[in-house]
Amino acid sequence: MISTNTRALLETPISDFIISSEKVAHVQIGNSAEHALLVLTKTGYSSVPVLDIKYRLHGLLSSKMITESILGLERIEYDKLANIKVDDCMDSDVTYLKITDTFQKALDLVINHAFLCVVDEEGTFVGILTRRVILKQLKKYIYQVED
Ligand code: AMP
Repeated sequence: MISTNTRALLETPISDFIISSEKVAHVQIGNSAEHALLVLTKTGYSSVPVLDIKYRLHGLLSSKMITESILGLERIEYDKLANIKVDDCMDSDVTYLKITDTFQKALDLVINHAFLCVVDEEGTFVGILTRRVILKQLKKYIYQVED
């Protein structure tokens, strides 16, 4: 049996918890894999969104995806980095949230994803929701209920 308080938390809109797009490191469609590797290495993020010029979400890109794209039979072919585009190595099958989704949906999805991209009604990228933020909210809720 779900309590009224828990129900309220589960029904909270995710818009309250989003890291907004201007604070999110991203790469753009058409960028080279070399540029993307620099962004990933310098920011320390495991993966970043791939957006187009209109801020529509096209995929996610990690260092592992880049390395795999330049993996030769016996060596990593670093010389290929400048000629490969992010479009060629990103994962375009992205699980994402809509701005109107609830905490409950986010909670289900962050079990398998460290963060999720969030798009608005027009499909424009508006930011990300991280597992860290969801866990912080859950922790706050658990302690408040036990007080
Ligand atoms: P964190 O919750 O800070 O541990 O972030 C988990 C993952 O979410 C990171 O490894 C990144 O892939 C992504 N992430 C978090 N914050 C940002 C950000 N400001 N820009 C881009 N990606 C981010």
